[in-house]
Order: sequence, then structure tokens, then C-alpha cells
Amino acid sequence: MQERAERELKEKSVTVRRGQGERSMAALIRGSRNLLPRWNKHVAPTFGPSRSMASKTPVGFIGLGNMGRPMAKNLLRNGYPVIATDVFPESRKELQDLGAQVFDTPADVAEKADRILTMLPSSPNVIEVYTGANGILKKVKKGTLLIDSSTIDPAVSREMAVAAEKMGAVFMDAPVSGGVGAASLAKLTFMVGGPKEEYQAAQELLTCMGANVVYCGAVGTGQAAKICNNMLLAIGMIGTAETMNLGIRLGLDPKLLAQILNMSSGRCWSSDSYNPVPGVMEGVPSGNNYQGGFGTTLMAKDLGLAQSTATNTKTPVPLGSLAHQIYRVMCARGYANKDFSSVFQFLREEEGQ
Ligand code: NAD
Repeated sequence: MQERAERELKEKSVTVRRGQGERSMAALIRGSRNLLPRWNKHVAPTFGPSRSMASKTPVGFIGLGNMGRPMAKNLLRNGYPVIATDVFPESRKELQDLGAQVFDTPADVAEKADRILTMLPSSPNVIEVYTGANGILKKVKKGTLLIDSSTIDPAVSREMAVAAEKMGAVFMDAPVSGGVGAASLAKLTFMVGGPKEEYQAAQELLTCMGANVVYCGAVGTGQAAKICNNMLLAIGMIGTAETMNLGIRLGLDPKLLAQILNMSSGRCWSSDSYNPVPGVMEGVPSGNNYQGGFGTTLMAKDLGLAQSTATNTKTPVPLGSLAHQIYRVMCARGYANKDFSSVFQFLREEEGQ
């Protein structure tokens, strides 16, 4: 089975030989301008018009969790063959059933694809997947485009970019805003950092998974934008939960209060699109015992990233710091796997003590 899959894959990906070894056609067609000077200028342009062929060469995807699975599915829906892996075999199964080829390690994926996306929980996982014993960089092909959509420390993104460059590959950070629902509907917002000349190649893939793709600047700036957004999101969510709770204590019907906030100056995403009070809105985690969505642990991690970058740059973020403490306490009190909007339930329980 595996043999047949690999044979089919070989047939699909054409490779060309030049003095410096083998590079897949996709890497050339991607239009990596920084690679061109190393090639005969009279030869390189002949690949330009075939760019559409690059679209159909396999794309690697590593990290098939809550977000990665729907993102990889959207690549498949857009006609990209997907080559995937995850540490948990059961996470690979769903993608495999939909036609993706699955392998055991990130190095296996790197051997077969020259555009690879990663969607992993945090910085240590990204370091492991890129530089570990079976990591991408052990087998990465020259010219490969590596796009990391995990939310991690911008300093780690910069380290990965340096390590990738040493192997002749290009690393970009492209964290996302939008939860599992947005990932399923291909409505994510991508914040992209990395070499400008590679942005178009990244954008080609990211538009299959998102409604907005925004170039932020050098590598790490996508993470910077994401960390700032999530710090504000956490502050907004805690503020909404606190406000809703006070209103309920003052005798207001929670649906009516939400309606008033949403037509007034207190309105925010947490009040009008992701209300934390059970029963106020349909289709959000608060209506489902805070299951699914964006975990409290992940929010605590993002607030930790905001804190360390603020400390490094000597930037005062008092509310961000308080939000970090609240989400850390929640993790310690059994909320770790609940959606981050469960801060409303947490406040209510604290009140009862
Ligand atoms: P998740 O924990 O559901 O998925 C991560 C996946 O990575 C898991 O399946 C895990 O097995 C896999 N993994 C970990 N280490 C690995 C390794 N060494 N090799 C292969 N696979 C490995 O997390 P998620 O909710 O999908 O979030 C992923 C990232 O996206 C996080 O950085 C998170 O902060 C960010 N994010 C999440 C949301 C959300 O709503 N869930 C929204 C925006 C951004």
C-alpha cells in the first residue's frame, strides 16, 4: 500500500537535475527569486509560465489537531495532494480516509514535499518538529517553503528561519486568528512574516484556508501580531464575562443585556460573536459546556508569550499580566481543557466560594 502510494507520488512530482543536485520542479516554479541567481538565467524563466503545475504538487502538513485537520482538509478540497503526519496515529486516520498520504515522521514528509505547513501547540513542539532527530530539517529539500501557523514565541520563529536557511530552505511564520469553525470554513486570518519575495508562494496556499492573508514584515512579525491580538482577546473575554455576571447579579436577563451591549459602546467580539454566558448564543462553546473551541491552556500559553515579549521590550501590559494570571489559575483549577470563554463559569464558581 505504502509502496504504491510512494510510486504514485514519484510519478506526480517531476524533478530536474542541474549541477547543484536535485530540486523538485515545484520549488523552481514557486518562483523563489532568491534561488534564481544560482541558476542559469537563460534557463530559469522557462519554468515561469508553468506555475499552475506547482499548485498540484504535494503539500506537506504536520500537526493534525483541532485546527490542522480542517486546514489540511481545505487543501485537499482545493485539489492539493496532501502528505501529512501527527504524533497520534488516530489523528492521521481521518485525513488518510479523505485521500491524504500519511507518514510516521516530519522527516518523511520533508523528503516528499517541497511546501510544508506546520500547525503545532507551542514553541517546544515546533523546535522538535523542525530540528529534532526525525525533524523536517533532517531531510528538507533545498528550496522548500516551510510555513509555520502555530502560535509561538517570535524568537523561536527567527531561530527556525536561521536553521532552515542553513539547509537551503525558507521559513515563514503565519499564525492564524479564528477558531476551529473558521478553520473548517476556510475563513481564517493569516498574519505572515518572512521574506517578501516568498510571500506570493505562501499566499497561494494560505488563501485555500483563510479569508484574509496579511503580510506583516520580517520573520516573527506574524507572531507579534498574533500575540497582540490574543492578549486583547483575553482581556476582552474576561471583561465581557465580568460585565455579564454583574448584570445578571443586578437582575438583568443575560440575553437582553448582551443585546444592549451589542448595540452600545461596550460591544466586542466576545460579547457579540462568542458570548461566554450559556444560553445567550447558539453554536458557541458556552452553549456546549465549554467544549471545543480554543482551550484555556492555549490561551494561557499565548498570554505567557505576550508577557515574555513585553518583559523583553520593557513594555507595560498590566491588564495582559492580570489576564495571564487569571488563565493560569484556571488551568490549575480544572479548566485547562475547556474553552477560554469558560472564564465566566470560573468567575461564578469563585463567587460561590
Ligand atoms: P491541538 O493540540 O489540537 O493540535 C496540535 C497537533 O499537533 C496535535 O494533534 C498533536 O498531536 C500534534 N503534534 C504535537 N507535537 C507533534 C510532533 N512532534 N509531531 C507531529 N505532530 C505533533 O492544537 P490546535 O488547537 O490545533 O492549535 C494549534 C496551534 O494553533 C496552537 O499554537 C494554537 O495556539 C493555535 N491556534 C488555535 C486556535 C484554536 O481555536 N484551537 C485558534 C487560533 C490559533
